[in-house]
Amino acid sequence: MDFLDPKINQYAEDHTSPENSVLQALNRETYANVLMPRMLSGHIQGRILAMISKMLRPRRILEIGTYTGYSALCFAEGLTEDGVLHTIDINEELETMVRNYIGQAGLENKIKFHIGNALEIIPTLDETFDLVFLDADKENYAAYYDLVIDKLSTGGIIVADNVLWSGKVLDEKELAKDVETKALNEFNKKVLADPRVENVLMPVRDGLNVIRKK
Ligand code: SAH
Ligand code: CA
Repeated sequence: MDFLDPKINQYAEDHTSPENSVLQALNRETYANVLMPRMLSGHIQGRILAMISKMLRPRRILEIGTYTGYSALCFAEGLTEDGVLHTIDINEELETMVRNYIGQAGLENKIKFHIGNALEIIPTLDETFDLVFLDADKENYAAYYDLVIDKLSTGGIIVADNVLWSGKVLDEKELAKDVETKALNEFNKKVLADPRVENVLMPVRDGLNVIRKK
């Protein structure tokens, strides 16, 4: 579902800095060869993630849900000189492709790629994160939030993607029967009610919940 008039979307894309050549190639290869390419963040959202990272200048970033690595490369643009991004994905089939693009971007020393279940890997990471991207299985967003909130620095940001779930969060039937829709709606309510944070649900693409720890 498009929330915006496609022409407005196109105009916004046409007037946003282009993707660099590595991101362009990764975007193309994902659409050509990988299942469910719509999961890739893409041009506009990628530039938003890079911009957030450049505004924050994080030393430690955690990404939950690497997929083909597009959003990881975007976030890494804003890392400090000594910065590190940890990214986790359960799908080992994408490993070769992800490592290839991390190499092409010259980020082998800055991106630590973990393969496995994020619910098990996050507790093993002994870091304080300045920026976290929640983008894996939607049923576990609340669990990921609980696992990362104490590892987040004061003023640190969690960005949670797809929180509008193509508009299904408004649909009573979907809320009653679809576990992902229900989980995302409950996640958004949990964040709103948590006195430790302030947030803005940005109606960008499929919905980005930007959450700041006080
Ligand atoms: N962040 C990417 C898209 C991620 S798609 C981008 O914006 O381009 C979601 C990913 O979450 C998929 O690759 C899927 O394999 C992964 N995933 C699903 N469940 C997971 C889990 N329990 N632990 C880690 N990764 C998981
Ligand atoms: Ca996503």
